[in-house]
Amino acid sequence: MDALILSALQESATPALYRRNAFRVTGLPTNVDEDVVRQLRSTARSPEAVRAYDRILGDPRRRLIEELFWLWDTEILRCACPGAVHREHDAAVRAHSSALRLESRSAKLSDGELRRLDEVWITAARAWDEQLERLSLVEQHLLHRMRVLDERLDGAVLEGLHGELRKTLYRPLVSLYATVQPERRAALGRAALAWPAPPDFGRDPLSYQAEPLSERIEAVMRDVRHSLDAGDLAATTKLLRQSLLPAIRQLSAVAPPERHPRTSNLRNEVALLINEFGLQILESRGSTAEKLARRWFTTAEHFAADPQTRRMVIANNNFANEIVDQERHLGLQPPIDVPVYRRPPWPPALRWTVGVLAVVLVALLIPWLMWAWNYGR
Ligand SMILES: [Zn+2]
Repeated sequence: MDALILSALQESATPALYRRNAFRVTGLPTNVDEDVVRQLRSTARSPEAVRAYDRILGDPRRRLIEELFWLWDTEILRCACPGAVHREHDAAVRAHSSALRLESRSAKLSDGELRRLDEVWITAARAWDEQLERLSLVEQHLLHRMRVLDERLDGAVLEGLHGELRKTLYRPLVSLYATVQPERRAALGRAALAWPAPPDFGRDPLSYQAEPLSERIEAVMRDVRHSLDAGDLAATTKLLRQSLLPAIRQLSAVAPPERHPRTSNLRNEVALLINEFGLQILESRGSTAEKLARRWFTTAEHFAADPQTRRMVIANNNFANEIVDQERHLGLQPPIDVPVYRRPPWPPALRWTVGVLAVVLVALLIPWLMWAWNYGR
């Protein structure tokens, strides 16, 4: 595929696909004459507008991608396309643009507005699906535009457009899925299933399978948190081995962390919990548990997604090693926790009372013994 067309498509593949479109920003029609653009650029008031004018004035291949993601209605009179081609393309652009704009503020929408948004997503998915089905018609329009913009260009620049366009249209949905409120994910999952997903994203990108799994992992993490706070090593071990680790491995298989930010974030949180557990083992059992703690640090390292977490876990793993060396160097035995009972001292007042009573008792006892002695004889 043409490198400039490819990079233009990749740059556009964000939730701002239409919001940052050069024609939307400048308010100009897609068939605008370059002289008009040049004139307007000299009076542009914001850097964003200048950049937008430059995207129209620059390489015609860049402009072509801007045109692809904006309205063609003004072209009807000057283009050989049947009228329906422009109309249907514009319907897809309008629906998709609305879906992205509304979804980016879905946290503020009412229930009724959200239901409407769900419909807009499905409309956009179907409309773009049809555009991709009949891509040759879209390409014919683009070829016509190329001839107008620069007669040196030919159809070769559009080679491989189908696959890349699918990715460009799909990526904004994937990005939004990672950032919306958790309650919106099921609705976006439905939109994703209706969407013409690129083959390498799989048909389960935001999958229903991943959603309940992620929620279960969050619940188990809360349980692990409680048992860590309670310092219960046995309960934490059981939760990690039997629940958390199998679940996070399953999620990673369903929604791989390389493509799913949520999986990646969850893996990092799991790594932090396991790291804390390793430290707790060292703290409570010292060098006797060094090997056990190190095994947990190694597990944490495997799940650590961000470099900072990874560095911390590796440092703790080395620290476990150091503890053993230090204790060996000092000739210390592992701590044996046998408590020795020591009677608390008596309070002074009680000591005096007991002393006085003892003296009185002896003073009374002596005459009694003398009497008993005499009486016995
Ligand atoms: Zn046309």
